[in-house]
Amino acid sequence: MPELQPYACHPERSRGRRYPQAPAPTRNDFQRDRDRVIHSSAFRRLVYKTQVFLNHEGDLFRTRLTHSLEVAQLGRSIARALGLHEDLVEALALAHDLGHTPFGHAGQDALNACLHQLPPEPDAPEDQPTPHEPVGGFEHNLQSLRVVDTLEQRYPDFDGLNLCFETREGILKHCSRANAERLQQLEPGGVGARFLLGHAPSLEAQLANLADEIAYNAHDIDDGVRSGLLTLEQLGEVELFERHLRAVRQQYPALNAKRLLYETIRRMLTEQVYDVIDASRAAIAEAGVQSVDEVRLCPPLLRFSAPMRAQTGALKRFLMAQLYRHPQVLAQTERARLVVTELYLIYHQDPRQLPAQAPGALPISLRRRVADHIAGMTDRYAMREHLRLTGQNLFD
Ligand code: MG
Repeated sequence: MPELQPYACHPERSRGRRYPQAPAPTRNDFQRDRDRVIHSSAFRRLVYKTQVFLNHEGDLFRTRLTHSLEVAQLGRSIARALGLHEDLVEALALAHDLGHTPFGHAGQDALNACLHQLPPEPDAPEDQPTPHEPVGGFEHNLQSLRVVDTLEQRYPDFDGLNLCFETREGILKHCSRANAERLQQLEPGGVGARFLLGHAPSLEAQLANLADEIAYNAHDIDDGVRSGLLTLEQLGEVELFERHLRAVRQQYPALNAKRLLYETIRRMLTEQVYDVIDASRAAIAEAGVQSVDEVRLCPPLLRFSAPMRAQTGALKRFLMAQLYRHPQVLAQTERARLVVTELYLIYHQDPRQLPAQAPGALPISLRRRVADHIAGMTDRYAMREHLRLTGQNLFD
């Protein structure tokens, strides 16, 4: 491992865990966090959660688990080149999607709408939010933090995984002001503070965020083409892709379509990784940061160069228009919305259908209990529960 730079997070300078624990003899604290994430139940569920294509549509499409592994690979490569802490980046990459609902963004949007709108009478006593729960709707980043702080139940002495501050901070990528204020009340100066102060997170957290974007831009092209919803001809309008496609075709005129696609994506990924390394190195040098605290006061220093940022923006817009809003994807989205909404209403009307609350659990509103239960489901469990409770099978 190359030398850790002074602007990197260091486990020995960690702000620590919420429940103090003695250090492990052979692992640093960020390794230990990564290992706790891997052993969590929420991590194992990622294998049956949708990224873009519903999990039952095909065995080769990305799921949230394989996506998270790709984010970890990209994040670690870049961390090593920049002298950042690889173990922390890996822990963040593997944990970043733990709070996602089943059915990808469709599930999350549906659950958010339910929390805001359903049932229409907001004053029912069982729906009064308690200080122990998030306010408002459903935020998947906040839910990821909720998973590692509260919902995982594995240890005798505390709820959650008791991760280091740096790991929890990186997991909470975004957060509404209302929830930042709530976190600040529960944990003064903790993971909510930076949203109130307008500070940046650590470079490792910034990197995990960017690696997420690089990963999904590339694998959504791959899944999109393999599903038949996107064609290479359509992708010809995306400069970042077309440039490499043309070069590969020139070099290997007889290459079959599958290898052509993989080689193009591989070159596109490599170019973005090198671009982030060069642009971030320059930004870090220019800012002259010498510590994590100085990093927090700067604008995000982990970045693409301006020309690459413009090209990845064009690719994102292409994927939004041609893939995420493809009629076939939207049809699945609509079914997913129905499943989540109906499950929410049924559990809310008949809480006996929910798993029993753990003895000694902190009190939370019924709405939040329902949301936590649905958010934790895999795609196929949600489909089975929906079939069990409504007798309808929307997915065959
Ligand atoms: Mg992700």
